[in-house]
Amino acid sequence: MQEDLTGRTAVVTGGASGIGAAIARRWVAAGGNVLIGDIDERSGAALTDELGPAARFVRFDVTSEADHAAACDLALDRYGALDAFFANAGAVGATGSIEGTRRDEWDATVALLLTGAFLSIKHAVRVMRPRGRGAIVCTGSVASVRGGLGPHAYTAAKHGLLGLVESAAVEIGRHGLRVNCVAPGGTVSALAARLAGAPDDLDAAYARLAAASSSGVPTTADDVAAAALFLAGPGAARINGTRLVVDGGDDVPSAKGL
Ligand code: NAD
Repeated sequence: MQEDLTGRTAVVTGGASGIGAAIARRWVAAGGNVLIGDIDERSGAALTDELGPAARFVRFDVTSEADHAAACDLALDRYGALDAFFANAGAVGATGSIEGTRRDEWDATVALLLTGAFLSIKHAVRVMRPRGRGAIVCTGSVASVRGGLGPHAYTAAKHGLLGLVESAAVEIGRHGLRVNCVAPGGTVSALAARLAGAPDDLDAAYARLAAASSSGVPTTADDVAAAALFLAGPGAARINGTRLVVDGGDDVPSAKGL
């Protein structure tokens, strides 16, 4: 059951599309206010039109520390507090072989998926710590816990993200804050469609992921959003520094101790 989020504020990076947009929709549906941060201004504007006055779009590149500082300060100025930060922005990044990947492609992938999450945690903690309350949820991946499921740079960065979450949780737990990782398997979104070579065809992504799943049902962005909101909420009050795999049981048997 979803808690009432009236008066609660969240920042969602990568909030204009896919999993981030599903998080924003759920947050607003439960009564909360959301700052949607993304580099995609057109999709961000369309989503804020859909969600109404409880949602606001901020152009926000997660590789920029200044953008993080501005978004967290805006949450404080406009709403008085920041209750949850969803560090969700991502893209596939470098897809070449080890030998075929240029240094700048590697660096850009790590900057987006790992350094971006570090900056998100850093600035969320900065504004949450004085209140001694707040939750951070990073979107990892099944590629955070197992190699060979995605491109090497993506996998390395998502593994690093989990290590960051586990370490940061120990440090910030003593201030009353929590940070966890939601770890989706293949999820119907623009990213998954792009990986399948048909960037605008979400139906094809849905069919491909359904066929690949033992249940015949694919993981949707809303399935992942539900898990992310659980990790941010009171039901997860004693959950800190861990990952919640959302894959219908398909991708990571080792993560469940099987
Ligand atoms: P998506 O492409 O639908 O959404 C990603 C969003 O991130 C887009 O709106 C994009 O504009 C934004 N973004 C990209 N670079 C950015 C930047 N530098 N600053 C701010 N925003 C930026 O994809 P999605 O599937 O919703 O992906 C969300 C997260 O889920 C990512 O971290 C991804 O790695 C993770 N994930 C996705 C899947 C999947 O199969 N879709 C599986 C595991 C993990």
